[in-house]
Amino acid sequence: MRLDVLSIFPDYLAPLELSLIGRAREKGLLDLTVHDLRDWTHDRHRTVDDTPYGGGAGMVMKPQPWGEALDALLGAGAASAEEAPAPEDGTAPVLIVPSPAGEVFTQATARELAERRHLVFACGRYEGIDQRVSDWATTRMEVRPMSIGDYVLNGGEVAVLVMVEAIARLLPGVIGNPESLDEESHEDGLLEYPVYTKPAVWRDHAVPPVLLSGDHGKVARWRRDERLRRTARVRPDLLVALPQDALDAHDRATLAQAAADQEPTAGVEAAGPDLAE
Ligand code: SAM
Repeated sequence: MRLDVLSIFPDYLAPLELSLIGRAREKGLLDLTVHDLRDWTHDRHRTVDDTPYGGGAGMVMKPQPWGEALDALLGAGAASAEEAPAPEDGTAPVLIVPSPAGEVFTQATARELAERRHLVFACGRYEGIDQRVSDWATTRMEVRPMSIGDYVLNGGEVAVLVMVEAIARLLPGVIGNPESLDEESHEDGLLEYPVYTKPAVWRDHAVPPVLLSGDHGKVARWRRDERLRRTARVRPDLLVALPQDALDAHDRATLAQAAADQEPTAGVEAAGPDLAE
């Protein structure tokens, strides 16, 4: 997979040289390049921003350096007047524009983007990037404004670190044991079960006995029950969003018991009755 990151703070992306992502780059699994947007400016001050049309506080990123940077990344012909719409068959490069006003990035988005050949990340700063950059880019690429959560950061770099890590770890060969991805939180709409390692007792806290039983069936059932209980307690909204056939009778009994065991909260009350039926 090819990834290009455009930023006025390329050093911010240095963590992408570390750990599993760094190793994946060394092994050639990821062709990742971080570019300095200012390389596509032409004035002495390497200016990337200007005042907003219509007035108001803050500055806006100028379209010109972004346009030239995207032309360079997309290759010959990108700047031609014969603008062709991005193909809709999934082969077009994807321009990911981090923005608190974008679609929320989830594990499902990470899975979807991990299938693509070429991702370009455009790190905004100030009040964001002139809208015409995205409008123009839709003629060459699939454009995805993407938020990593309902809060406002100073720039897109941290959001890109989050998204690249979530996407890249799904690529074949990046994680040593791909089975470890299967039961992770958010893969099938439930959170992961609690995990334990040695020693069996630590500061008077014992590992749940079932995990020492050697009975694989019982361990699997316990883990599933813990996933259901944890999800009901922490993220009842995820349970409500599960497809109808995602829970069997045993799952529903576990949830009914969990609801009875715990102090009712607004969220569980909302999720409980339907799921426990
Ligand atoms: N004026 C923008 C708004 O209210 O939607 C916020 C601009 S923010 C200060 C500067 C940049 O940080 C954005 O262009 C975007 O690249 C990035 N950013 C901020 N919050 C983000 C979030 N929740 N998810 C993704 N990117 C974010």
